[in-house]
Amino acid sequence: MALQVHPDIRSLSPYVPGKPIDELQRELGLTRVIKLASNENPLGPSPKALAAVSGAQDMLHRYPDGGAYQLRQAIADRWKVAREQVILGNGSDEILGLLARTFMTPGDEAIMADHTFVIYKMEVTAVHGKPVVVPLVNWTHDLASMVRAITPRTRLLFLCNPNNPTGTIVTAEAVDRLMARVPEDVVVVFDEAYFEYVRSPQFPEAMAYVKQGRNAIVLRTFSKIYGLAGLRIGYGISTTEIIDYLNRVRPPFNANSLAQKAALAALGDDEHVAKSRAVNAAGMEQMGQGLRELGVIPIPSETNFLYFDAKRDGRVVFEALLRAGIIVRHIDGTMLRVTIGQPDENAAFLQALRKVLDGGT
Ligand SMILES: *Cc1c(COP(=O)(O)O)cnc(C)c1O
Repeated sequence: MALQVHPDIRSLSPYVPGKPIDELQRELGLTRVIKLASNENPLGPSPKALAAVSGAQDMLHRYPDGGAYQLRQAIADRWKVAREQVILGNGSDEILGLLARTFMTPGDEAIMADHTFVIYKMEVTAVHGKPVVVPLVNWTHDLASMVRAITPRTRLLFLCNPNNPTGTIVTAEAVDRLMARVPEDVVVVFDEAYFEYVRSPQFPEAMAYVKQGRNAIVLRTFSKIYGLAGLRIGYGISTTEIIDYLNRVRPPFNANSLAQKAALAALGDDEHVAKSRAVNAAGMEQMGQGLRELGVIPIPSETNFLYFDAKRDGRVVFEALLRAGIIVRHIDGTMLRVTIGQPDENAAFLQALRKVLDGGT
């Protein structure tokens, strides 16, 4: 019998992740591969997180603590909210899905930027919602147009800040104007996966809206600066009411026991975060300058990645870099995204890119 699949699901394409290192090694027989494709921390996790995981073998036959008491309490203490205001996800990706399932019925709308994290569109479409896509202006969220796009059917508004893949932020002032106009029945999703890398004093304190009781949620992750992408753990902070609803659709053991332990230890290691931020700031200098020397002007970034126009077919550049053992991300057209790595990785990327661009490909 023919499969019955809803056209919304047929319309989706599977998420294309950054190419894994060993896949490229297998394909091209390369020994050294540098992955600058998924905005991972090049220093790896906190040594404290590694120690916490390696001491945890004797509990692997037990289910995790489904309520994740310790980690949620530690996150609550850190941000001065109640534990009931914290939800964990199998990556913050999962919380995006929980939001769509909790708040959207078929035909409801969710507002998002045109160049932003692709998971929003995927999760909204998967629950038969309608993604309402608002173009960026100057590679930045256009909050005024996003507000104008709100209709009685709008349920979610996604604000990726800083934005992936562009690296830009919206300011506190702009977000204030947005929040003054958003109706109460729209949940504003502040996706702050790169929060710990931000240096701009103009960055908003989104958590303040949650504390005022606004219908907003702040998403953070342990996958980026905390270096725990492989364990899959992220969190959301919102009102107790919103968290309560999300918990009704959350799979009970979605945050695994190793991830809970590692995240708890990582959260307590401010030194590793500070070091990671410093390495990133220096690498950002090195990469920015290196790119400009090649005649490539990257968009100023508040994250651990740079978005740039290669001024030629991005797929060809991406593939030429792969053959040199360097994995970046081709976003679309002539645009590429590269993660800031360690100094030698950055240098290898710049050298390979120079060859590709000189080669006239
Ligand atoms: C990486 C990323 C996430 C989350 O990643 P998880 O690994 O699922 O926690 C969320 N939003 C954006 C914009 C990201 O870049």
